[in-house]
Amino acid sequence: MDPIGRLISWFTKFPGVGNKSARRMVFFLLKQDTSMLREFGQSIASLKDDLHTCEECGNISDSNPCPICRDPLRDRSTLCVVENIDDLVSFEQAGIYSGLYHVLGGRVSPFEDEDLSQENLDFLREHIESLNTREVIVATNPRMEGDLTYFTLLEFLREMGGPSRLKISRLAFGLPIGGSIEFADRMTLHTALESRVEASDEASWS
Ligand SMILES: [Zn+2]
Repeated sequence: MDPIGRLISWFTKFPGVGNKSARRMVFFLLKQDTSMLREFGQSIASLKDDLHTCEECGNISDSNPCPICRDPLRDRSTLCVVENIDDLVSFEQAGIYSGLYHVLGGRVSPFEDEDLSQENLDFLREHIESLNTREVIVATNPRMEGDLTYFTLLEFLREMGGPSRLKISRLAFGLPIGGSIEFADRMTLHTALESRVEASDEASWS
């Protein structure tokens, strides 16, 4: 395959990029000068070399602990538990939350044969214990997998701390059921967080 065709086919591997968009990107790159292209290529080549998983929260950044965990201005008594890094980034970009995060790195999804491992749960327990957390906000997505993940966490957290010591709350969803944190706008996320509710055994999707 020629260099242009090869690059087009690389871009079509990106989520949401079809052949037409991929062609536009390649023709955009063709118009740039060589130094920009080298820099771009270098950024991609070294992407994983410069990144570390935060051993406290599971976030990925260029330092360990990550800048969020190191930030002295953040409220260290509140922990927002998210399913993955995309969700953390959504909250951060919305600028609506000043506590710390915990990235689960897993979820409960019987259809895709996924479950939270003991390792996932131990990592969360260590984080809560080291911070002496007062409130855990479970920010799983408003869909069936998110609910199943929430129930597993709820049981785990109740066993761990008991409701008197550890407050457990959950996002109140103005989000459409079946929607996701990743694609929610700032206002929706803000409302979901501000009107969060004390943990209960009710599902959001039923
Ligand atoms: Zn961190």
